[in-house]
Formats: sequence, structure tokens, C-alpha cells
Amino acid sequence: MDEIRIDNLKVFAHHGVFEHENKNGQNFFVNAVLYTDTEKAGMLDRLEYSTDYGNVCELIHEVMTRYTFSLIETAAQKTAVEILKNFPLVESVDIEIRKPEAPVEMEFESLSVKIRRGWHTAVIALGSNMGDSRVYIENAVKSLEKSEYIKDIKISDLIVTKPYGYTEQEDFLNGALVCRTLLSPYGLLELMHSIENNALRKREIHWGPRTLDLDLIFYDDAVIDTPDLTVPHIDMQNRSFVLEPLNQLVPYYRHPVLNLTVSQLLERLNKNG
Ligand code: ADP
Ligand code: MG
Repeated sequence: MDEIRIDNLKVFAHHGVFEHENKNGQNFFVNAVLYTDTEKAGMLDRLEYSTDYGNVCELIHEVMTRYTFSLIETAAQKTAVEILKNFPLVESVDIEIRKPEAPVEMEFESLSVKIRRGWHTAVIALGSNMGDSRVYIENAVKSLEKSEYIKDIKISDLIVTKPYGYTEQEDFLNGALVCRTLLSPYGLLELMHSIENNALRKREIHWGPRTLDLDLIFYDDAVIDTPDLTVPHIDMQNRSFVLEPLNQLVPYYRHPVLNLTVSQLLERLNKNG
């Protein structure tokens, strides 16, 4: 990806854990690398196809001076998120905040924090089979829409399906959505769990009735195997109630381990039953 760089933008601000830092302020220097595709702007010589670095400098200055944070970690996080939200052509951004006057009684050039944040594609499966399932699913989508870390949500049709695993229960309503998110896979899972908990979900019977089930199916082409999270979702290739809605949204999405697209996975499942 192409890069637009801002080097050592000087900002006088008030971040720090000490009271005197918040009161008196000090100089900070911000380095930013914007990852963005400049091909079209470069061929047509037109600014509207690129990102105006002057405007980015102003936004950095605005964020750095509007707030007083204890940590430059927070200043960096807030700056990165605001750039990504306000400049849609920027796919990801590195923000480094240097603090040459940090209150440490030794000789140093500067102390700094550097982070990378960016937009990722997430595919989430939606399910419910208790109470008013349609409302639970619609509210879950609304909660995701409300998050400042999520944009561009597209939702599949919702389909009625027979229960899977534990079959002595009501039919399910299932669907899927694809979105762009600034959250890490774990951050997104945490948000999904809090939305499930708000829907009064009780984790009683495995595969049992639930007001709301949100499963992370894909996150970019990430492969994650940890006790709390498996991505791609471990059983998605065997579930037509996941693959059908997915096939409507992202038929071309390729499973990074099985190396088959969603439409190929669905075809294979339909053939093998
Ligand atoms: P299931 O969806 O299989 O019926 P739960 O929704 O109760 O079961 O999830 C059980 C646990 O599975 C969650 O606490 C979560 O930590 C873990 N988990 C692992 N991978 C995923 C994933 N890709 N999406 C959602 N939860 C996951
Ligand atoms: Mg689940």
C-alpha cells in the first residue's frame, strides 16, 4: 500500500500522568503514516482521489489539544481512530507520539509510543430462537451500527432454520452480516459478547435455545486458534444456516485454511449432505 507521511508535527499539549504536565503542557511530536492507494490521484493529478495531508495535520492538532489524557497511548489511539473515521481513503495508519520533555530524570532524546490501527473486514453470523428473534437480531445490528469502531454494515436476508445439535427446541432465525471494523478480533468478540449479554442470553445448554448468538466467522484472512477464539469459525463449513446467508453476502470470500470460497463450501455441503 502507498504511504503519505507526516514527520514530527509539533503540538503543544497537556498529556501526562503528573498534575504539572496537565497544568503547564509541553511539546509533543507526532509522526503519522497513512496507508492509502494513491494510484488514481497519481494518474489524474487530482486531490479528491487522495487525502489532503494539511487537513490530517489539522485533525491531529485538534485531537491532541482538545483532550488531556494521562497516557500518550490514549492520545495515539484517539488520533488514529479519528483519522480513520474522517479520511475514508486511509486504510490504516501508524501514529507515533514522541515526548522529548517527558519527566524522567535521565538523558534521552525522546520517549514515544507507536501504534498501527486500520479497517478490517469481519463476517459475523447471527442467530436466535427465543422470544421475538427478529427484534433480537435487529437490535444486535443496531448496537453494532452504534459502535464508532464499525462501519459499512451489510446484512443478509434472515432465514428460518431447523435446530442443529440439540434438536428439542424452537426453529432458529439465522442471518449474517459483513462490516468494516477498527477492533481487533478479541475486541470485536468482546463487543459481540456484551451485545449477547444485553439480549439477556443465558449460556445454559451448549447449542441450546438462545435469544441471540453472534459468531465471528471471518476476520480478514486471519487464522486464530486460541482457547477463547477460533477464526475462521470452527464449524462454519458444516452449517448451511451459516453458509446460505454468507453466500448471499460474500460468495467470493475464501476460507484461508480450507482454501475454498463460500460458494464452493456451500456447494460441497449441499453435495455431501
Ligand atoms: P456456540 O456459538 O458454539 O453455540 P457460544 O455462543 O456459547 O457457543 O460460544 C461459546 C464460546 O465460543 C464463546 O465464549 C467464545 O469465547 C468461543 N468462541 C470461539 N471462537 C468463536 C468465534 N469465532 N465466534 C464466537 N465465539 C467463539
Ligand atoms: Mg456463539
